[in-house]
Amino acid sequence: MRPAILFPLFAETRTLPGVGPRIEKLIARVAGTRLIDLIFDLPAGVIDRSWRPKLIRAEAGRIATLLLNVLEHVRPATPSRPWVVRCSDDTALIDLVFFHARPDYLKSVLPVGAQRLVSGRVERFREALQMPHPDYVLDPAKAAELPLHEAVYALTEGLPAKSLHKAVRAALDKLQPLPEWHDAAMRKARGWTSFHEALQAAHAPVREDDLAPTTPARRRLAYDELLANQLALHMIRARLKTPKGRALAGTGTLKRKALAALPFALTDGQQQALAEIETDMASPARMLRLLQGDVGAGKTVVAMLALLKAVESGCQGALMAPTELLTRQHMASLAPLAEAAGVRMALLTGRERGPARERTLDTLRAGEIDILVGTHALFSDDVSFRDLGLAVVDEQHRFGVHQRMQLQGKGPADVLVMTATPIPRTLALTAYGDMDVSRIHGRPPGRKPVETRVISDEKLDQAVAHLRGAIAKGARAYWVCPLVEESEKSDLAAAEARARELRQALGIPVGLVHGRLKGQERDAAMERFKRGEDKILVATTVIEVGVDVPEATIMVVEHAERFGLAQLHQLRGRVGRGAGKSSCLLVYHPPLGETARARLKTMRETDDGFVIAEEDLSLRGAGELLGKRQSGMPEFRLADLAAHSDLLAMARDDARLVLSRDPQLKSPRGEALRLLLYLFERDEAVRLLRTG
Ligand code: ADP
Ligand code: MG
Repeated sequence: MRPAILFPLFAETRTLPGVGPRIEKLIARVAGTRLIDLIFDLPAGVIDRSWRPKLIRAEAGRIATLLLNVLEHVRPATPSRPWVVRCSDDTALIDLVFFHARPDYLKSVLPVGAQRLVSGRVERFREALQMPHPDYVLDPAKAAELPLHEAVYALTEGLPAKSLHKAVRAALDKLQPLPEWHDAAMRKARGWTSFHEALQAAHAPVREDDLAPTTPARRRLAYDELLANQLALHMIRARLKTPKGRALAGTGTLKRKALAALPFALTDGQQQALAEIETDMASPARMLRLLQGDVGAGKTVVAMLALLKAVESGCQGALMAPTELLTRQHMASLAPLAEAAGVRMALLTGRERGPARERTLDTLRAGEIDILVGTHALFSDDVSFRDLGLAVVDEQHRFGVHQRMQLQGKGPADVLVMTATPIPRTLALTAYGDMDVSRIHGRPPGRKPVETRVISDEKLDQAVAHLRGAIAKGARAYWVCPLVEESEKSDLAAAEARARELRQALGIPVGLVHGRLKGQERDAAMERFKRGEDKILVATTVIEVGVDVPEATIMVVEHAERFGLAQLHQLRGRVGRGAGKSSCLLVYHPPLGETARARLKTMRETDDGFVIAEEDLSLRGAGELLGKRQSGMPEFRLADLAAHSDLLAMARDDARLVLSRDPQLKSPRGEALRLLLYLFERDEAVRLLRTG
């Protein structure tokens, strides 16, 4: 349970003064629903109100604070024109301009004859000075209330800057100093203040420089967040590593049979990865290993050979894939190897029900199934193995910490997670800091590079013409329409329209898969494409394209500018799998933003997933929503992985050291670190301590 000292921070924003239901909703959109979300919403800009010129020296376009005498209120001739309050100092005149004014209110805050301190952006209109809608109008006696330096937060339409600002200040006021969780000497060496002071400082920028990720305040906060992340991962690792695993030595007999049946030799990359996995399996410690490699790098064969080693050692193996479709695909591609090696494989997905499912579960329990292939259904409580030795998870970015813990229930099996998303080293550390990593570089020999072209959607006709020619020669093509709107409905409409247009333009059948289709309908559509009855497959989402159709040689991606690099790379990886020469057409809707342009350029220039992944990270700005949301990577609010990667390495070492000395976090520093974990909502990790 969350410690009481943190309760105020996790209160809802609506408990703050000035936050009603309307503002609450708007704040939820930019920051979140709780005070902590406001506190962690660091400013994106700063307004400097310290410039106090005489009017004669006021420059247009700059924020200024002026001491003015109110001369007169000028009522507009028509309601659509602004209310003007004419003011002066001893050097010149200026008009304060208010559209949609409330005259009574203006007369009360700007009474004729009074002196007022006015702050806002000065503009020039036909030689005359103006200030439209000043930010502040104060009695000079209350000058102290004017913030000389004002933090600027990212806003959303309808949310007044002042309301958000006020809410953040009010939330910060609730923040109590917390016990220090960092080593005092380390803090001193880096010149870091306390968490409390660092937050106050981060919210009180004076100059642009104060917004940089390199300020001591921001670095300390980033480090706090990264340390919480690394601690949690290491605690999970510690938990998964106890009780001890066991040595799965294998005999090599099944592996030999499978290798003999393979129509190719393993690449160096595959052999090295397999060797690392085999060493882990043979050691008595439990394996927790991540196998990274591009789509088509040949991970599945490696996984199968590892599974066979488990079977050789007298255990069972499990292979889990994220979708029904991939599960069946794995089953189909591995069946020949299983047969050659003489092992019994079975399938278990959500679709197997009733007596058939019962039979599978019985044989599994009896140890009459050697390798079970399935979806998430493998995690169900009623699925029990006689003796699970190795669990392989083909994750396609969905295997979170939570899932890792679920595997725990199936016994102390070795765990191998495969990801087809080459992840930059820093990201891999934040998502998989608890795992050892193997990488398969490159692709099996014989693959021709995919020719990649980038075109504007104004030239879509050319793309269709190209498609017509290629299909006449027997090609097959994917056509991907992305998630454009929040609503699935309108996406679907766009994809349906595209499929219809292609059908008409080319006069051939065109398949369509999307997230709303039932499993069987989706499989049926895929099958038609696989068999070549449909030459074109229009797809709404990335997931449905997670299939292996070697005959497909063309990938068209519409609205390519909306995809993240990792996704584009994954999509392109769907072609170039067979003997034919393949091409990828990235169609964008102009105008192209700077980041999108850089992304498409990268796609044209390289097909090395690891290079693309590093590039993705450095390009990934705050606005990269789509890529981020679907990536399943932990999101950081205070840390900027591109700017703080040195801190990440430090946090990893720190986490290791702390846990080796104080695994239950019982020392005073350990107690403070528990607070840190709760603060960054790693409650799950703290629960491990309690039960451990
Ligand atoms: P991944 O799972 O990494 O996306 P796969 O294991 O599905 O890749 O392999 C992609 C294709 O390459 C499969 O058709 C597989 O049979 C083939 N393949 C795997 N390893 C090799 C190799 N060493 N030489 C040639 N082809 C290979
Ligand atoms: Mg695969």
